Amino acid sequence: MEKNQISHFGELDLSSEMMGALKSATYESPTPIQAGLIPLALEEFDVVGQARTGTGKTAAFVIPILELLELDSRQKNPQALILVPTRELAVQVKEEVIKLSLGLKIRCVALYGGTPIRGQLAKLKRGVDIVVGTPGRVLDHMSRNTLTLTDIDCVVLDEADRMLDVGFRPDMEKILRKCPKERQTLLLSATMPPPVQRLANKYMHEPKTLNCSSSDVTVDTIDQHYFTVDHDRKFDLLVRLLEREEPQQAIVFCRTKRGVQKIFDKLGKKLKDVGCMHGDMQQRERDRVMERFRSERIRCMVATDVMGRGIDVSGVSHIINFDIPAFSDDYVHRVGRTGRMGREGVAYTFVTPEEGGELTRIEQRIDRLLVRGEMEGFILTKPPEPPREETPEDTEKRNVSSVLGKRSGKRTHRRRL
Ligand code: AMP
Repeated sequence: MEKNQISHFGELDLSSEMMGALKSATYESPTPIQAGLIPLALEEFDVVGQARTGTGKTAAFVIPILELLELDSRQKNPQALILVPTRELAVQVKEEVIKLSLGLKIRCVALYGGTPIRGQLAKLKRGVDIVVGTPGRVLDHMSRNTLTLTDIDCVVLDEADRMLDVGFRPDMEKILRKCPKERQTLLLSATMPPPVQRLANKYMHEPKTLNCSSSDVTVDTIDQHYFTVDHDRKFDLLVRLLEREEPQQAIVFCRTKRGVQKIFDKLGKKLKDVGCMHGDMQQRERDRVMERFRSERIRCMVATDVMGRGIDVSGVSHIINFDIPAFSDDYVHRVGRTGRMGREGVAYTFVTPEEGGELTRIEQRIDRLLVRGEMEGFILTKPPEPPREETPEDTEKRNVSSVLGKRSGKRTHRRRL
């Protein structure tokens, strides 16, 4: 891991335009990933950076890209390509490019599916400097010959772990093979499982590595609790929790799209300002919901993991894992939606009595114990049924079955908690 002591953007030898943009964005000092990545990227090294969303990782790669763009000799084809796993993230990254290129007239396009391709085609035709896109739509444009990657100087693989998780590997590889060999590649990932390392080994040139995920993988400012709750009490607990906590903004994570829709429908009848996000929604609807969430007109967003990733909304004070995440890494990502940039946040995870093992795996992953939550006057789990007194019929049945031998009934397998 590279160490650095940079505490001011002024120490990074950035252009006056960039210093102006940073000032107007009110970014005063670089975050650790920015202090680590920007100098290496400016020297045109390949860099593998382990950093989750909320650490300022977007600006960490956008700043050097903007600084290294050759504006005098720019052509129609883009010089930088940023691949991201979701449409929402494409929009967010593009917004960061716009923010940090203040006064520079940078041509940036976001290419993602689910919206008519016509607008994107028109922009590409006029010429672009930076493309931000999901691998599927980028590949689509390449096969239509509306996007040429021959002038690419820098490729960014943002949230590489998630892109691989959602099956983008073949598309990513096709895209990378079409980029010039003499290019810079920056890879950002919240986690570094072997598939991400293999991708880096295959497509990067002697990359420098940076690890900006602290050993405590979820940030210190987040209080993390769990409730052991029966499955059929979860919804009532959610309502009680939202009433008690009055979050500034909350994201409620469910495992499936159907689950999201169900909770959204039920919650909408109880509370105002509820929204939902899942992959079956039309792009236009998703954009509308995100915009309402950002402007705090939606206070409580019910979402699946894929949608939750990359949502960067600073007002999120509460994360509620209505369903415990299937993978511990998803826990880290979900909880990372709050406590952003050092702000305080709180996370609650609902665990059914059968899911004790999943909770332990999460605790091992984050190397920290979650605190048991309390909800006054609320019965979280039904007490076990008291043993029933034996009736004469029971005595008779018992006698018959012992006469018949051991074959009566299936063996029930009870999970230990
Ligand atoms: P990211 O990790 O890229 O999703 O960034 C998280 C949030 O931090 C975004 O809202 C950025 O606008 C903000 N941000 C990025 N860099 C800085 C910085 N150096 N100082 C203050 N805020 C920042």
